[in-house]
Amino acid sequence: MPADVFTDEALPRLEAAAQHAKAKPDTIERLRHAEKFVEVSIPVTMDDGSLKVFTGYRCRYSTARGPAKGGIRYHPQVNPGEVRALAFWMTFKCATVGIPFGGGKGGVIVDPRQLSKQELEALSRAYVRALAELMGPEIDVPAPDVYTNATIMGWMSSEYDTIRRGLHPGFITGKPVAKGGSLGRDDATARGGFACLSQLQHKRNWNPKDITIAIQGFGNAGQHFARLADEAGYKVVAVSDSRGGIYDPDGLDVRAAIEAKETTGKLPKQGKPIDNEQLLALDVDVLVPAALENAVTKDNVDAVKARVLIELANGPLTKDADEVLAKSETLVVPDILANAGGVTVSYFEWTQNRSGDSWKLQTVYDRLNEVMAQSFNDVYDLAQAKGLPMRTACYVHALNRLADAME
Ligand code: GLU
Repeated sequence: MPADVFTDEALPRLEAAAQHAKAKPDTIERLRHAEKFVEVSIPVTMDDGSLKVFTGYRCRYSTARGPAKGGIRYHPQVNPGEVRALAFWMTFKCATVGIPFGGGKGGVIVDPRQLSKQELEALSRAYVRALAELMGPEIDVPAPDVYTNATIMGWMSSEYDTIRRGLHPGFITGKPVAKGGSLGRDDATARGGFACLSQLQHKRNWNPKDITIAIQGFGNAGQHFARLADEAGYKVVAVSDSRGGIYDPDGLDVRAAIEAKETTGKLPKQGKPIDNEQLLALDVDVLVPAALENAVTKDNVDAVKARVLIELANGPLTKDADEVLAKSETLVVPDILANAGGVTVSYFEWTQNRSGDSWKLQTVYDRLNEVMAQSFNDVYDLAQAKGLPMRTACYVHALNRLADAME
């Protein structure tokens, strides 16, 4: 685990892009620093009557292109460097896909699986009370991230409304549809990543049934990506969660795997069991890291055999691993593009909340696909034209947009 994800893994990406972008040195210097970073203590009365104080964070990295935007993560390993890095990545993600948001992120150090539903609700509401003065529809708009979901967004929305004495659905996105959420937000991250896969299919003349895919991480993004790929005829040969994975070279029964995960919380017995390291090293066409940061490091990158990597997680490759792959034949579709579908539909949700409109599911899909196809091709063409890896091209593209706003 690197000492600080922000300085070790996030900032170097800005420095690498700076040499190729039109941004002035002052702009780059501004972007090396978050606008605001806040730590709060969050007291919660537990079910047994005892008091537990949790630590929470919110980082408003940039508002140069619009209100800060980004999820709230509940995880035992949340730390200030990670929150800052994630907020930095949100800034570049929103600029990549051209939605009018800056970047932010929040987190709480907690294992939510250890809390009862009541405790989880109390924690979520208390997080909003601790930070309400810094967040809002026109300044910083939170959303779900790792181990947070629509129900938690609903509680947070309700708490914000109580504090503000009014209804402000645009305060937070990823809400339940009945509470002002958008149709299509639940699988938006996966759908955006899948749109990248579809663009590659056209460019490389793929026949989906010949293309093998391995997915590391079987949470929201990983499961939906597996489903979409399976429905489109791709061969999903391996999936894994934090406990390990399953592998069948002839293709898994994806539907059964999702159902087992939903009902038992575990992957079913299918094909043969593999661990996460074996999954990352499989000889597949497409590898999809969809779990946490730093899945592929300098220690295991040489084992990666996939021809294409689609980063559905945030920061799944360390800088060192990335440098190795950049010199290889492997094409890496970077996180700030590949997983931008989630925040894009968050933008649609925020837009609907502010206009009072509600879009049909197909409208959400069509607009999302339009944004993703355009962004993918902008980045792909820039990478080709400048002879850059897709990640650097993506940062250059985003940086040019940030510079336009800042200068
Ligand atoms: N947490 C998601 C991400 O990392 C979504 C953020 C959002 O919808 O604001 O992109």
